[in-house]
Amino acid sequence: LSHSIRNTQDNFLLYYQPLVDAHSETLIGAEALLRWISPNKDIISPERVIAALEATGHMDGVGAWVLEQAVCQCSRWIASGISRDFVLHVNITAEDLMRPNYSMSVISLLSRYALDPSNIILEITETSLMQSVSACRQNLIRLRKAGIRISLDDFGTGYSSLNYLRELPVDEIKIDRAFLENIHKDRYNHSFISAMVILAHSIPRHVCIEGIETKEQADTVRALGADVFQGFHFGRPIAATEFEQRFFCKNNNRT
Ligand code: C2E
Ligand code: MG
Ligand code: MG
Repeated sequence: LSHSIRNTQDNFLLYYQPLVDAHSETLIGAEALLRWISPNKDIISPERVIAALEATGHMDGVGAWVLEQAVCQCSRWIASGISRDFVLHVNITAEDLMRPNYSMSVISLLSRYALDPSNIILEITETSLMQSVSACRQNLIRLRKAGIRISLDDFGTGYSSLNYLRELPVDEIKIDRAFLENIHKDRYNHSFISAMVILAHSIPRHVCIEGIETKEQADTVRALGADVFQGFHFGRPIAATEFEQRFFCKNNNRT
């Protein structure tokens, strides 16, 4: 891992998972997800890697690499002729949002790659944002003023009081996949998603549901009015070239 950090491009890569419109199930964007290629060539999921990067103070550098890779990829995809409305979601940390010059660095990165701010959504987990909301607020406001949208990731698993939701400078909530468990039978999970959709739309915020694995789950939450879907049912995270073949080649578009 420390070798990877010194030669970032070599051993890190981004996977892309499709996001679809909840009603038409057509592709509207993707989430960029970090992967690490271990010395014996296994592709390692981010949670363990991110914990190690954070513990050793290296997350800033890798986070900057992720953002630049993602912006570069999205800019290339749009230049190659895919929809100008395509939106790439990128995960960031509360530490990013606490750095005074963070919003400026994102804005100048977008201009360097000639990418419109509306093509990027930054995701921050509810838990990490709620722990440092006042320190993050300035950057969130500046990013949104510049047209970059913010999504509150893993919503429902953190500690936000519902009254906070109204005040938070975010554009979308992404309801955690924990609430999809037994969604057609579990009345609490069903009511939770239903209530959150009503609440979010009233302020107004978009609602993305993550972790949809079956058609039944998709049908159930569609009826509750969610806007965007993500999950293995629509596609697992895959490398950029595979994503292009599957979603951008005209004869191959499965969504
Ligand atoms: P996340 O941002 O909530 O990303 C969604 C995670 O759920 C991904 O795991 C994805 O593979 C998984 N997932 C998507 N659909 C399904 C499904 O239908 N069923 C199940 N069981 N899982 C599904 P992944 O890629 O292992 O990422 C885990 C977490 O690591 C992410 O959760 C995010 O919080 C963090 N992460 C990933 N990449 C980055 C990054 O570049 N920067 C930062 N700061 N965090 C990242
Ligand atoms: Mg995310
Ligand atoms: Mg999530």
